[in-house]
Amino acid sequence: MSKNDEESLRPATRLVQGGRRPEWTGDPRLGGAVVNPPVWRASTILYDNVADLKARGHATHDKLYYGRRGTPNVWALADALTDLEPGAEGTLLYPSGVAANSAGLLALLSPGDHLLMVDSAYEPTRAFCNGMLARMGVRTTYYDPLIGAGIADLLTDQTKLIFLESPGSLTFEVQDVPAITAIARRRGIVTMLDNTWATPLLFPALAHGVDVAMMSLTKYAGGHSDAMMGSLTATRAVWPKLRSAAYQLGQAVSPDDCAMMLRGLRTLDVRMARHGENGLAVANWLAARAEVGRVLHPALSGDPGHALWKRDFNGTSGLFGFTLKGVDEAARTRFIDALSHFGIGFSWGGYESLVVPSDPATIRSATLWTDPDPLVRLSIGLEDPADLIADLERGFAAL
Ligand SMILES: *Cc1c(COP(=O)(O)O)cnc(C)c1O
Repeated sequence: MSKNDEESLRPATRLVQGGRRPEWTGDPRLGGAVVNPPVWRASTILYDNVADLKARGHATHDKLYYGRRGTPNVWALADALTDLEPGAEGTLLYPSGVAANSAGLLALLSPGDHLLMVDSAYEPTRAFCNGMLARMGVRTTYYDPLIGAGIADLLTDQTKLIFLESPGSLTFEVQDVPAITAIARRRGIVTMLDNTWATPLLFPALAHGVDVAMMSLTKYAGGHSDAMMGSLTATRAVWPKLRSAAYQLGQAVSPDDCAMMLRGLRTLDVRMARHGENGLAVANWLAARAEVGRVLHPALSGDPGHALWKRDFNGTSGLFGFTLKGVDEAARTRFIDALSHFGIGFSWGGYESLVVPSDPATIRSATLWTDPDPLVRLSIGLEDPADLIADLERGFAAL
C-alpha cells in the first residue's frame, strides 16, 4: 500500500491493516502466511558471512541488525501506531509511558533551555522536570491548562518545548491544543502531547499541530492490564533527534510484549466505543445523584471543557472523575471500599473497571485545586454499566 492510500483509509481500517508486511508473516518455502508475525525473540542476528555483516547499515528500522534495534514484532507495532497519525514519520517504543515521556524530553531539551509544562500533567512527568531536567539545567514553568492562546505571554527566547496533556488525567481539563500548537509553530517551538486518554482514534494529535504524540500503551492501546509500554509518534522534523536519542539510551522493548500490545491494538476501535458509552452511562447517572458534587467528564454538556472537547475530539474514553459532596476522606474510603466490581488500583484503560482516590491539590503549582470535596477517579471497563451502577449505589449507601 502506498502512503497516500494508507492516509485515505479510515482509522478503524488502518487499525486492522497497519504494520502487516508479508515478509514478517510468511515464507514462500512454507507455502503460506500467518496473520500475525510470530514472536521473533532475538539478541544476536546471524549474518551469512563477514561481507554481509559489514554491508549492513546499522541505522535500520526494519532490517534485522541486533536485537536491541528490534525484530518484526517491534516494527509491526511501531508501524501500526504510525499509521494512526497521518503525517507522522515514525514511532519509537519504550518500556513504559514514563520512559517515553522522559526520553522525549531528554532528546529535545538541552542545558539552558526553558520548558512549558501543563499544570495538570501526570505526576511522574512533573517529577522528571523537577528532578533530572532541573539537574541538567533545563528550567520548567508550569502553566494553567486553560491558558489557550495566552501561552504566548509565557514564551522566552529560551523556550524550546511546550508539553500538553489533554484532558489532564486526574482533573480532566481540556486544553485548546490547536491554539497552542499554532503559536508554537510560528515561534519554532516543539510541542509534545500526552495523548493517553484519547489515543489517536479520538484525537489525532499531529493533525492538530502537535509534533510529538506520546501514549502510555499500558492503558487503552494494550487494554488488558497485562503489559507496560510507551510510544512516541513524531513528525519528520523531530524524528531524527528522537531516534538518535533512543539509540543512545538503549531502551529496548521485548518482542513478546509487542505481540501482546499489537493484539490489544487491533480491537482498540470497538473497545474504545464501548468504554466511552459505558463511561457516559455511569457519568450521567452520577451527575444526577445528590451525593455527588461534580462530575469531571468533558463529554457531559455542563463540563467546562465541553465546547473544546466537542470541537476537537471524535469521542470519549472511559476515564473520568467525580467529587463526593461535603464529606471527608474517611467517607470517600468507605465509599471505595464498599465497591466490588471496581478493582482498587493504579493504571486504567483495561477491560475491567478500576477506582482510585485522587488528590490533585497536592500536585499543582501554577493553578490551585480548591475544591474541598474528595475526588474519586473511575476507569469504566467493558462490564454492563447497569451492574456498575448497582455497585456504585452500594458505595453511596456506605457513605
Ligand atoms: C499511566 C500514564 C502514564 C505513564 O504510563 P506508564 O506506562 O504507566 O509508565 C503517562 N501519562 C498518563 C496520562 C498516564 O495515565
